[in-house]
Amino acid sequence: MRPGPFAPAVTGTTHVVGAGLAGLACATALVAAGQQVTLYEATDHAGGRCRSWYDAKLDRTIDNGNHLILGANRECLTYLDRVGGRDGLQTVDPVCLPFRDLQTGENWALRPGLGPLPLWLADPHRRVPDSRLVDYLRVLTLAFAGPDRRVIDLLPESHPLTARLWKPLAVSILNTPYEEGSARLLWAVFRQTLLRGAEACRPYIAGPGGLSAALVDPALNFLAKAGGDVRFGKRLKALYRSANGAVDLLDFGTEMIRLTPDDRVVIALPAETVGALLPTLSIPDRSHGILNAHYRLDQSAQLPGGLPLLGLTGGIAEWLFVREDVVSVTVSAADTLINRPVDDLLALLWRDVAAALGRDPDRPAMGRLIKERRAGFAATPDQNRRRPGIRHGPNLFLVGDWTDTGLPATIEGAVQSGHRAAALVTAA
Ligand SMILES: Cc1cc2nc3c(=O)[nH]c(=O)nc-3n(C[C@H](O)[C@H](O)[C@H](O)COP(=O)(O)OP(=O)(O)OC[C@H]3O[C@@H](n4cnc5c(N)ncnc54)[C@H](O)[C@@H]3O)c2cc1C
Repeated sequence: MRPGPFAPAVTGTTHVVGAGLAGLACATALVAAGQQVTLYEATDHAGGRCRSWYDAKLDRTIDNGNHLILGANRECLTYLDRVGGRDGLQTVDPVCLPFRDLQTGENWALRPGLGPLPLWLADPHRRVPDSRLVDYLRVLTLAFAGPDRRVIDLLPESHPLTARLWKPLAVSILNTPYEEGSARLLWAVFRQTLLRGAEACRPYIAGPGGLSAALVDPALNFLAKAGGDVRFGKRLKALYRSANGAVDLLDFGTEMIRLTPDDRVVIALPAETVGALLPTLSIPDRSHGILNAHYRLDQSAQLPGGLPLLGLTGGIAEWLFVREDVVSVTVSAADTLINRPVDDLLALLWRDVAAALGRDPDRPAMGRLIKERRAGFAATPDQNRRRPGIRHGPNLFLVGDWTDTGLPATIEGAVQSGHRAAALVTAA
């Protein structure tokens, strides 16, 4: 894409470092606005914590982990529309979050209604079994939570909906143990989804080509066509600033990039990397891991409820996603499990998969386990306070899911921060 005839003249280059979704969103938005962009990535692939690859053991393309995008994720959907990735997503229809309790075998589904008012909760068939309408009102206390409040302070373990609803949702949304999660961050997601009706809650998951085919490869194609310069194998080692705080040198070890006064730098790196590059900055310094196991079955799988995803309670596994003959299971905030041997974990998680699918728990299907040790910053009140804003000096911008987006570590937060930085650069 070329800038239109009335686009502002391009002055200088924006150096975007990190080709995760924050960096890709920023780089594509800038290029779409007619800006000159160079994107640097340390590894030989883009996508960071949200990507797929061919796995030779399973002979299938697998994702680093199950990712759920919701209709409320406007920034993410805007990004996908820009780069042409929306077709790579599978739209879950009807709008429904199905659950199964592994201990009792009960099935239920949250099925939000059309309007913004959650009138659908008046229908017992759209709620957790045996729950009362009044039980759900308790969630509104999150709206008034101060910055130090935890989810558990307002929705205690003893609340009738905690085990079957609040806890599974909070742990997977915040990727943080229930007793630590920030009430404000959970409310930020509930407010945009459960309280906005069906379309805001519509689940989207990766289609047959996996996460990269939807969220990553189209962005690289878009940049290639639009003249964006993408450089892999470029690991930023240090950045140097002049007396006025402007970045004037990027050190990639084998190459130094000297910036002109018109150049800008967008750092789109994980929190821990930025902590080492900018040691005086306050940034989140605790994260949690996610486990994901992929099992290749002997035939295409059907989940109870007939949708491609299923929430589980009463076990260790939390979400099952199915893509043809591969069933994938996620455990968030998995720090107490993550150091266990791979084969033990594959056998352990299979027991929950087998219970959900009616298979033999002692005969695990061929599996691949992915350990994402730093899947996202710990979404606690304390860590939330450490999140920095975007602008840091005349030409330096920080983006990523850990910056101060008001959201937990999500695709939406990452993309939103990338878009905001692009808007600031373009306006400068
Ligand atoms: C298993 C798992 C499941 C998840 N599930 C969901 C979900 O269901 N829904 C949701 O919304 N979110 C989910 N997330 C979170 C989501 O994936 C992240 O919020 C998002 O991908 C973060 O993007 P980012 O660009 O901020 O960071 P990253 O993806 O970490 O990107 C940073 C990039 O910088 C590169 N890099 C690192 N160091 C350097 C360096 N020194 N120089 C140059 N490049 C460097 C990295 O290789 C990487 O490509 C999940 C995450 C995981 C791990």
